[in-house]
Amino acid sequence: MDFSLTEKQQMLKKITREFAEAYIVPVAKESDEKQELDETVLQKMKEMKYFGACIPEEFGGAGLHDDSIAYCIVVEEIGRADAAWGLSIAVHNSLASYPIYKFGTEEQKQKFLIDLAKGDKVGAFCLTEADAGSDAGGVQLAAEKDGNEYILNGTKIFATNGGIANTLLVIAKTGEKEGRKQLTVFIVDTDTPGYSVGAKENKLGVRGSNTSELVFEDVRIPQENILGGIGDGFKLAMQILGYGRIGIAAQSVGLGQASLEASIKYANERVQFGKPIGRFQAIQWKIADMACAVEAGRYFTYKAAYMYDNQMDYGHVSSMAKLVASEAAMQAAHSAVQIHGGYGLMKAYPVERYFRDAKMGEIYEGTSEIQRMVIANHLLRKGV
Ligand SMILES: Cc1cc2nc3c(=O)[nH]c(=O)nc-3n(C[C@H](O)[C@H](O)[C@H](O)COP(=O)(O)OP(=O)(O)OC[C@H]3O[C@@H](n4cnc5c(N)ncnc54)[C@H](O)[C@@H]3O)c2cc1C
Repeated sequence: MDFSLTEKQQMLKKITREFAEAYIVPVAKESDEKQELDETVLQKMKEMKYFGACIPEEFGGAGLHDDSIAYCIVVEEIGRADAAWGLSIAVHNSLASYPIYKFGTEEQKQKFLIDLAKGDKVGAFCLTEADAGSDAGGVQLAAEKDGNEYILNGTKIFATNGGIANTLLVIAKTGEKEGRKQLTVFIVDTDTPGYSVGAKENKLGVRGSNTSELVFEDVRIPQENILGGIGDGFKLAMQILGYGRIGIAAQSVGLGQASLEASIKYANERVQFGKPIGRFQAIQWKIADMACAVEAGRYFTYKAAYMYDNQMDYGHVSSMAKLVASEAAMQAAHSAVQIHGGYGLMKAYPVERYFRDAKMGEIYEGTSEIQRMVIANHLLRKGV
């Protein structure tokens, strides 16, 4: 077993960290306050090919499709600088662009993937509805066949990048088969008549990342925009989320790392009772526990990425990575605020934001309860 990063991965980590510290960190606080991603950062991210991180170069991407650990490193470093950017770029890549690369037709790749990979268009993944959250099978947004088109009617909620997206993957109900609801994934261009962005959410954390309601009123989509086949929607959505959770785990690792680093810095600087607080055992134990939790999340994440690249049965490990990394980020952010004392609650220090951001990771792309359910179901069916 080799725990070292390849030369390429090390280089990518260095370049992405330098980029993130130069461009993302300085505006992260403002982005949180304004509840939007910074436009200059967005343009720079395009130039750095982060919008096409896990897409092959032939489609305008950075070519990390066959090195998911490298992709995780990119998301981790972006998430370390700003969890909101980590979320938005992970969703754009793993949940919108990559599924088109993986499951799309050549025509769909030419029509949608290249613009997404170049960052000329932003992608979103639209599964959640008011009555379909953890229970993804509860989707009600309907797609009715009319000649060579499908007419979409319904509302999606909580879509990351929703309000700024140009290309959506929409999971819709396309009827029933043998008494079971049939779901299908549609690629939707947001210029299509009948589509509109509803309310933008005002959130606790990852506030820079756009989260919006999306409304579909008689939106006509050509049948060639179906991803996979009719009725493949549930299976595809689960596969997309399985891969997506690796990216979200990486985002949480970055956020946990940021909390840890801020805490070490503060513990060395803050003097009470005549010495730096880092000399007190109570603070040292917190730092040690944070480091262990974040590192455990990182190794789970890289393991899931490795298993994915090697076509192994990785779904439950991707859930483990998402669960462990997001709970580690929460634990680390909680301790970071405690180590900062009263200052940890103030906007002047980033740990206040990390704390709010970390809570989000335990909810989106499947709550911690759902991850535990996936892991346990796998173990009970297939054993260890
Ligand atoms: C910032 C943000 C971004 C998001 N981005 C996207 C996106 O891009 N695309 C998208 O489609 N969705 C997105 N979501 C939606 C997200 O995936 C859902 O919020 C999440 O899956 C939970 O669904 P819910 O909110 O309806 O909660 P519910 O499903 O109503 O759950 C409520 C509580 O019940 C628990 N629970 C539910 N069922 C069970 C069970 N069987 N066993 C044990 N406990 C259970 C849950 O764990 C939770 O604690 C986003 C959400 C947020 C907050």
